[in-house]
Amino acid sequence: MDPVIVVGGGLSGLSAAHSVLEHGGKVVLLDKKPALGGNSVKASSGINGAGTQSQTRLNISDSSQSFYDDTLKSAGSEHARPNLITALTSNSASAIEWLINNFGVDLSLVSMLGGHSTPRTHRGTGGAPGWAITSALMKRLVAEEAKSEKRANILKNAKVVKLLQTGDKVTGVEYEDGQGQKVKLAGSVLIATGGFGADFSPAGLIATHRADLMQLPTVNGDHATGDGHVLVTSLPSRSGVLIDMNQVQVHPTGFIDPAQPDAKTKFLAAEALRGVGGLLLKNDGSRFVDEMEKRDLVTAKMWEVIQNGQGPVRLVLGVQAATELKSHCDFYLSKGLMKKFANLQELAESMQVSLTDLHATFTSHKSYALGQEKDPFGKTHFHNSDINIEEPFLVALITPVVHYTMGGVLVDEQAHVLDASGKPIPGLYASGEVIGGVHGKNRLGGSSLLEAVVFGRIAGEMAARSQ
Ligand SMILES: Cc1cc2nc3c(=O)[nH]c(=O)nc-3n(C[C@H](O)[C@H](O)[C@H](O)COP(=O)(O)OP(=O)(O)OC[C@H]3O[C@@H](n4cnc5c(N)ncnc54)[C@H](O)[C@@H]3O)c2cc1C
Repeated sequence: MDPVIVVGGGLSGLSAAHSVLEHGGKVVLLDKKPALGGNSVKASSGINGAGTQSQTRLNISDSSQSFYDDTLKSAGSEHARPNLITALTSNSASAIEWLINNFGVDLSLVSMLGGHSTPRTHRGTGGAPGWAITSALMKRLVAEEAKSEKRANILKNAKVVKLLQTGDKVTGVEYEDGQGQKVKLAGSVLIATGGFGADFSPAGLIATHRADLMQLPTVNGDHATGDGHVLVTSLPSRSGVLIDMNQVQVHPTGFIDPAQPDAKTKFLAAEALRGVGGLLLKNDGSRFVDEMEKRDLVTAKMWEVIQNGQGPVRLVLGVQAATELKSHCDFYLSKGLMKKFANLQELAESMQVSLTDLHATFTSHKSYALGQEKDPFGKTHFHNSDINIEEPFLVALITPVVHYTMGGVLVDEQAHVLDASGKPIPGLYASGEVIGGVHGKNRLGGSSLLEAVVFGRIAGEMAARSQ
């Protein structure tokens, strides 16, 4: 029996590899980097699930229908693909339980991110959720590889450069090993190479589809060069197709590191920072947006502020919000990405604004939270809004950054790669950020780790069943 060849060792490739094993197959997982993990290990806010045990324990009422509705709204009617959204949202609770029950991942905390109608973004009490989830799956795959039956094999420094095709059927890959040797491997192929959010080469995918973003910084690792997009569309016989390639998510909150303000690659200020009550302020200390809005809208408002000379934009957390995300904030402080001010007076001096004006921003925000007045920006979800001005504040300078690529390989809800006529290409599957159309024009926070797991599991099962 030929193995399923999984290309890419981020969360989606790892989920797919475990799914192949669970369904009785053999798997070889290749990654071009010396270490597995991709962008998945960087994920800092969490993973969505609707109707999970963690939500029940916290008395959060949610349903896959409500998650579907939020996702559809965010995707926009022009771009939404109901079959893919249904696959994502209806499998979300089982994906979370799979991570908890099969891999022992702690996903006991649930928070609310922008664009969601209820708290459904799961994380644990420890460090970054992307690392916690992905490393648990990595460790387990290494343990599977060590077993005597040899059903799992991991190849690092193995860059897949070509897909092999016999007739219409994809029959294997060619990869370059660490010594630059070309090696052929036979098997059905599952592409999980991630997005193209770091492909700034002059003839690359960003230049081709969103030249206007070429000057922006990115939070993507340098592996995110759209290799899978190119592999799937370069098949000698029947090729895959790409959709929604101009739909690139620009995240509003990349950290500007004061030590290297012009760095092309930036750290992401987790969306969860706004979820726990972080406010976005112009240079005069006033707010300009509902911080809990969807990313595309917050980014658009930030551009207006920056272009009107009202920047830099600051992300400001009071002590309660910072305590709720303590491990994140400790990390950002240690990296010099956030700065601590002893009290509001100190922050006002640093921003060169009057304490009275800055104080008014927080007192108004509190009155909106208490329902005494209506927020002029339409904010309805408030958290940790009772700020004591004598307590410390954590503050970061932030800028929009290339974050996630919504466009990608056309698949059906069973993760088959489709050709231009909508027919599956035999022997070829794809999952994770490389696939297009799941999120339409705007991805909701927490839905990409979920996409990686849900479609990885489906693709792995489909590929194993066809072995
Ligand atoms: C800073 C940051 C924070 C984020 N936070 C969140 C969050 O909190 N919640 C959320 O849902 N999403 C978040 N995201 C998005 C999410 O992390 C990614 O979209 C998701 O992890 C993608 O998973 P993946 O497995 O598809 O790709 P990746 O994790 O990027 O893995 C792709 C892998 O494929 C390998 N590869 C690529 N090309 C080849 C090739 N030719 N041959 C062999 N191997 C190859 C790469 O080396 C890499 O290891 C965040 C993203 C970033 C950048």
